Amino acid sequence: MNDTIRLGRLAGIPVGVNWTVIGIGALMAWSLAGRVLPGEVPGLAAAAYWAAGIGVALLFLASLLAHELAHAVVARRNGLEVEGITLWLLGGVAKLRGEARTPGAEARIAIVGPLASLTIAGAAFAASVGLGALALEGPFALAVVAAQWLALVNLLLGVFNLIPGAPLDGGRIAKAVVWRWRGDALTATRAASGLGTAVGWGLAGLGIAEVALFGNLAGLWSIVLGWFIAGAAGAERDQAEALDALAGLRVADVMTHEPPRAPASLTVDAFADHMAPSARSSTWVLTGPGGEIASVLGLESVRRLGRGRARETRLGDLAVPVERLPVTTPDELVPALLERLAGAPVGTRVAVIDEGALVGLLLPEDLSRAIEIGRLRPRTRDGGGAATSRTIPGWPARP
Ligand SMILES: [Zn+2]
Repeated sequence: MNDTIRLGRLAGIPVGVNWTVIGIGALMAWSLAGRVLPGEVPGLAAAAYWAAGIGVALLFLASLLAHELAHAVVARRNGLEVEGITLWLLGGVAKLRGEARTPGAEARIAIVGPLASLTIAGAAFAASVGLGALALEGPFALAVVAAQWLALVNLLLGVFNLIPGAPLDGGRIAKAVVWRWRGDALTATRAASGLGTAVGWGLAGLGIAEVALFGNLAGLWSIVLGWFIAGAAGAERDQAEALDALAGLRVADVMTHEPPRAPASLTVDAFADHMAPSARSSTWVLTGPGGEIASVLGLESVRRLGRGRARETRLGDLAVPVERLPVTTPDELVPALLERLAGAPVGTRVAVIDEGALVGLLLPEDLSRAIEIGRLRPRTRDGGGAATSRTIPGWPARP
């Protein structure tokens, strides 16, 4: 989710909007001003319809924000760090660092979002009844329709999010229930993710039927949403399984102790011809003139350079100085490290420092190998919250 515009902070939580939201808001204002409002209250100037349409679209985005803010505030009260809230094409996302430590906390964080939406729906409905009783005329009659419409979309938002399938809020409530019942967070995540996959494909199937049988293009929306839900549900399961496999492991258990070394002054073509084929690592440590470790080179940057410029480029030009890498210690627990690095790009390399010296590197392939091996171990029951943390860099967050 790049291209996010920062709006500022609410209750200390950074809030941003993705540019796709502007499209959604515009589409909503357009459909209200062009079709819905003139149908309900005919005979007004176009400017009145547009003012009401834009106002309702902004209020809708505000109620979406209230839903996410409710998640974020309750998450923070339950000891989770909140990175921020982003509104985008398919709604909002409250980015939480780490994971609820108990089923109760998971349920509280999940339920409060739909509760916020349903509360707004109730308030908007009451407002529409109150305004309707005033028997307003002219442009003011639009306020009744606007309040009814806000009530309806917030009702839909609240109810839709209660559908029991991850990553929807209802899926998290289902997870909390299974977690409390079976006493095991991973089993619960798998169940919620299975439900989410079914919900996602079901929704996409309905969308396909809508388009194919009735020629209704609104079905495209269900297809996109269903596809997103199924994908996110699968990613949550994969991540929970990966973190479960890594539970209890320390950085020293999985890191690359002795990455291959090359002089930083070597040209890239000499390296590619003579040194690179001899090692089985994706990552090299480059040494300075005195033999000291200066930087870290990933083979992907050599590949990206291409052969054309390989003769005049030196390895040091492509490498990342050690001091610019994220840092860990040999004793840090791997799940804790991944939680700390949440948001770092996929494929991040981490420098392992002990008493001021580089003692190894934690590489992406170290993690994949440890995950594969960890999956072979018999599981101990309830690895705790860390076992289901959805914080591996690059994986999605809470909608
Ligand atoms: Zn929600």
